[in-house]
Order: sequence, then C-alpha cells, then structure tokens
Amino acid sequence: MYDFIKFIDILNNKPDSFYDAFNLIKNDFHIGKVVIKSTDSFEYLEYNFDKNYINSPVISYSNGGYDYIIYKNSDSHKYNEEEIKDITLLIRVVAVHHKNYLLNKKATEGEFVSFNTKLPNTHGYIKKIEELVKHVDATNYNSYFINLKGFGLVNKLYSNEIGDKAIVYYANKLKEFKEDDEVIGHLGGDNFVAFIKKHRHDDFVKLASNVSVNLQINNTKASLTLVGVIGFTEIGDTTPNYREILTNSSIACQYARATKKLIVKLTQELYEMVISIKNIENTFKDELQRGNFLVYYQPKFDIETGKVVGVEALSRWINNGKIVPPGLFVPVLEKNGEIIDLDLFVLEKLCSDIHNYRNQGHKIVPASCNLSRRDFEHKDLEQKVIEIIRKYNVRTNDIVIEVTETTNLEENERLAKFINTMWENGIMTSIDDFGTGYSSLSVLRDFKVNEIKIDRSFINREVLTESDEIIIGSIIDMAKRLNIGVICEGVETKMQAEFLVKLGCYKAQGFYYSKPVPKEEFEAMLQRIGTVYD
Ligand code: C2E
Ligand code: MG
Ligand code: MG
Repeated sequence: MYDFIKFIDILNNKPDSFYDAFNLIKNDFHIGKVVIKSTDSFEYLEYNFDKNYINSPVISYSNGGYDYIIYKNSDSHKYNEEEIKDITLLIRVVAVHHKNYLLNKKATEGEFVSFNTKLPNTHGYIKKIEELVKHVDATNYNSYFINLKGFGLVNKLYSNEIGDKAIVYYANKLKEFKEDDEVIGHLGGDNFVAFIKKHRHDDFVKLASNVSVNLQINNTKASLTLVGVIGFTEIGDTTPNYREILTNSSIACQYARATKKLIVKLTQELYEMVISIKNIENTFKDELQRGNFLVYYQPKFDIETGKVVGVEALSRWINNGKIVPPGLFVPVLEKNGEIIDLDLFVLEKLCSDIHNYRNQGHKIVPASCNLSRRDFEHKDLEQKVIEIIRKYNVRTNDIVIEVTETTNLEENERLAKFINTMWENGIMTSIDDFGTGYSSLSVLRDFKVNEIKIDRSFINREVLTESDEIIIGSIIDMAKRLNIGVICEGVETKMQAEFLVKLGCYKAQGFYYSKPVPKEEFEAMLQRIGTVYD
C-alpha cells in the first residue's frame, strides 16, 4: 500500500518538491514520467522516472490553466479501477499544492522586486547585499540613497505614464552601470539605492546625478533631465547592519534635500544632528522657550529695478551651535502637531520686528511668513493670526501669510475659509509652492488670494524648454487676468530671471539675489539697496 500521508507531508513541507513526492510512489503506481505544464506551454516541468515510459497518458488532469499528466513506465502492469481512482486523487492533490506554490512564488517575487523596474526592493536589496558580502570585502563599498529632484512635477506636467517610463529609463541606466559584485535597488517612487565599490564613486555619482531622457507617448513628447540627489555612507570596519546603513544613507539624502545640496556624505556629526532632530518631538517646547529658534529673512526683488519689494521670514533651529534647516525639523513638528506653535511664534516675531521698524521711522516692505497645512486643523487659527497682527498694530499691507496648496478636497475647503477670512480682514495671502498641489488653477478662480508664488521646480532646471515657457507663461497670464500678483521662488541665475521677465513675471526670490539672512543683515541690505516703496 502506498504512503498517502507521507506523500502529502512532502508537499506540505516544501511546496515545489513534486519530484520527491512522485519518487516516493513511483513504484506503487508504475509511473514512468510526470509533466506539469501551463496550457500556453510557457512553463514546463518534467520528472522522468523511466526513460522508456509509455507515451500515452495514464491520466491527465487540467486545472487553473495547467495540465498535470502522468505516463506509465515500461513494465507490463495493467491498472485496475481502484488504482486509477487513487492516481486521480493524487494528481488533484498535486494540483492544489502546485497552485499554492505558484501563488507563493508570485508573492515572494512581489516582495523582493519593485514592480515596474524589476529591481530589488528594500527586502531584496538588503538580502542581495548580505549575500554579496559573504564573498567580498564590504569595506570596499559605499551605500547610496538617491532621490530624483522635483520628480513629482514630471507626473504633473506630463502624465503618470511618462513618469513611470522615466523611472524605468533611470533604473536601466543604473543597471547598465552595475557590475556583478554590486547591487542596485528601487524602493518605489523616485527612490533608488545602490551598493557600489568605492573606487567607482566618481563615475557612479556622475551617472546617477544626471540622466537625460527623451520620451514620447502618443503625442506627448518629454525631454527631461533626471537629477539624482545623493546621500551616501562609507562602509566601515565595524560589523555593518545593512538595514541601518540604508537608513543612514537615506538620512544623508534627506539632509541633502533640506540643505539644497546634490550630494551629502553621512558623517558622525550629521548622524548626531539627525538623532537630535528626531528627538525634537520631546524637546521642542523647551527649545522654543530657550530662544533656540531664530527667524531669518530672505528678500524678494523686483527683477527690473533690482530693488527689494518684499521679504519672507523663515525659521531656523540652532542645535548645539549648528543651524538646522526647516526641511529637517518642520516635517517632525507637522507629524506631532506642534508646528502651529512654531508658526505663530514666527508670525509674532515678524510682527514685533515690523512694529519696531515702523516705530524707528524706517521704510518697510511687505513681509510674509509661512503656515503649515496642519495648522488648518485648528479651528481658532484665523482668530489667533488676527490677534497677533493687531497686538503689534501691524498695518495690513505690511504683512502676507503664505499658505500651501492642499492635497485633498477636505483640506481645500478649510483653506478656502482661512483665505476668505483673511481677505475680509484685509490681510494678504499668498499661495506658496504654487503648481505643486491639488487644484492649482481652481485656487485662482475660487479663492480670494492676493498672490501666487510659483514653485521653484518650474524654473530651477538646467534647460528651460518651450513647453516650460508655455506652462509658466499661462500660469502668469491667468493670474494677471484675475488681478492676482505673481512672484517666482528659487531663482538662481540671471538667465532664469530674464526668462521670467519675458513671460511677464517681475518679482523673484532666490539665491541669485540673496539667501535667507539674519535680521540685521537683511536690514543692512534694505538700507543699501533700497525699495520701490522709497
Ligand atoms: P518656502 O516657504 O517655499 O521657502 C523658500 C525656501 O526656498 C527656503 O528654504 C529658501 O531658503 C529656499 N530658497 C530660496 N531661494 C532659493 C533658491 O534660489 N534655490 C533653492 N534651491 N532654494 C531657495 P528653507 O528656509 O530651507 O525653508 C524650506 C521650507 O520650510 C519653506 O519653503 C517652508 O515651506 C518651510 N518653512 C520654513 N520656515 C517655516 C515656518 O516657520 N513654518 C512653516 N510651517 N514652514 C516653514
Ligand atoms: Mg514660503
Ligand atoms: Mg515655496
């Protein structure tokens, strides 16, 4: 009697051990060969037990797009009814296990490989590195984390399809570069990782930081430069934990983004800074009270006259004597809901500065500060903002509140209410990072905003193409027709400033003119350069 229980056990323990299972019963059932194949014949498994098998199936069973076929061996045995029944049962058991095996295989492939690029995802990447370092000296390697600069805009300007294709193109460039003893991964979205030999660092950075791609889908043509912002860690002598190293490289990348650099190496100092940034959740209130948050000022310019026409207040955190940029701590405060305290603090500081400045008889330019999306969760936000502005007797045309576009409908309604309340109270608002949010154009139509601030990703590119011109130009035209002011942020070159003037935008903010500076420096600048309000 054949061992049915053992047969099932074998398959249960290892779902693809069909050979072992059939091997166990091949004598009992006079089996010569077993074939499992997909009906489209792309997949084919064959287990041979007798090379002289009889080439007419004893039994063939079809299920779920697969055929399961058993052939008899060359001995003279004739099957009885009972045996045929048993073989039928066995083959059904095999079919069930085979199906599970396929599902499992699919799931693990999905688990380890990124869908569109077919590159390893986080798990797969770490696994591959762990496998690799069994055979190579890990200290010869760097670990990289790459995020594509302003990539969100590609989907927005063109289509998701173009975005996906661009990602695959970039992935393929990295694949081409990769040698056998290196690993590349795609963590999804526009985030890539790489484990590359140190001596190839320069070449790798050169490639990953700048990939040009020309795409066409139907009638949409796109010429893009994919700029990779890179954070990296050198693998040291201490036994590395590759998951931690991945996190560290991502920290370096995050830091690069927040400080607007293209490449940053993780140092001990940076690592410590990041740890204390994470800890800001616990220390924020104390830090604010101790005066460790400062307000920097970045002037806004009239492109044609070169005079100062406005200024933006931007927060800075002084942590252990180091200036931490808001890109690193604002997201943490937004997460834990404390951002409103910072925003009202900056508003108050700004109002107090304006008040003093006016009292001293100085000329003044409209000054703005930022509110976070999260602030709109507070029902009394409007009231608090108005209270602070009144407390310092700030004239309404001296102050502007910058808000960002929302990402969903509900937020949008809340934002509309805020903007309209400010309007009713004569307080100016500006839509920051315009063009990156949920409903850019309807914002212009439906909200009573005074100004839009075109996001830097529209202008901050190496080449500005004709389609950039059309897009930026139509935003500017539309705003003008609706009597809404326009400024462009992130202007870094003379060429970009001239490009804006050509399209009818005469106000700019950006490193080409000035970085955000401490208050005294801004005041000196204002005296030196003057304003159009003189
Ligand atoms: P934002 O409001 O869009 O501010 C402009 C940011 O662009 C500033 O970064 C500024 O330094 C940077 N920037 C200015 N000119 C250029 C340029 O030519 N090129 C490039 N690449 N960047 C330029 P910063 O100060 O690091 O602030 C980053 C963001 O953090 C701000 O973006 C704002 O969204 C947020 N933020 C800053 N302070 C506060 C605050 O007090 N409250 C809230 N809620 N958010 C704040
Ligand atoms: Mg702003
Ligand atoms: Mg902005």
